[in-house]
Amino acid sequence: MSEPLRTPLPDVPPEARARVAMLADVPAGELLIHELYLSVQGESTFAGLPCAFVRLAVCDSRCVWCDTPHAFARGTRMTRAAVRAAALALACPLVEITGGEPLLQPDVFPLMTELCDAGRTVLLETSGARDISAVDPRVHVIMDLKCPDSGEEYRNRWANLGALKPTDEIKFVIASRRDWDWAAATIRAHKLDERFACLVSCVFDRVKPVELVGWLLESALWRVRTQLQMHKYIWEPTTRGV
Ligand code: SF4
Repeated sequence: MSEPLRTPLPDVPPEARARVAMLADVPAGELLIHELYLSVQGESTFAGLPCAFVRLAVCDSRCVWCDTPHAFARGTRMTRAAVRAAALALACPLVEITGGEPLLQPDVFPLMTELCDAGRTVLLETSGARDISAVDPRVHVIMDLKCPDSGEEYRNRWANLGALKPTDEIKFVIASRRDWDWAAATIRAHKLDERFACLVSCVFDRVKPVELVGWLLESALWRVRTQLQMHKYIWEPTTRGV
């Protein structure tokens, strides 16, 4: 019997190669899934709505404050058809594809298209380090721009700004005043608040929401939206799969 067709490993910088090595075992037509579950959308302009989450395993980044490190090295291989069926079986009109970093796995692109074809509103949460240009235009992209104190600012793929649609969203996670100053300067330099929905949130135990709101008001960036990671207030902050 012939070997199943292997998916080529994603192109990542040398320091990230070991982080994506698990994907070498995933054949074309399959995905490495960390978890699939129903919850409420905690962030973005869709916050508060019921949402089916499809969390893909593995990430090539290592943000120092990452709250999903459990997705780095644990996942179950599933065919794309099985992932699609499981996501649709949750019977929720809103589906979020998240990770880890979902765009590391090539089958996620047709999966998102198939979910759109099935009538779902599809959100994609991505780190901003991967090329988003091949994402189905019906998908709402929620893209991070990594601030300096994440440790991953150097991975920001600035060309993605040219591929985002006016209906897409850019998220800044703020871990310090330095991060806020960087985010505000980046928003102004690229007029991001005139082009996309811009969201700022704070790292849960590093910046207090009242501090972030103070910085926002002082900046007069009137179109920028503060958000809290809602699920950290609904459930215990360390609860997973919610
Ligand atoms: S990109 Fe997302 S999943 Fe990856 S390390 Fe950063 S926060 Fe965690």
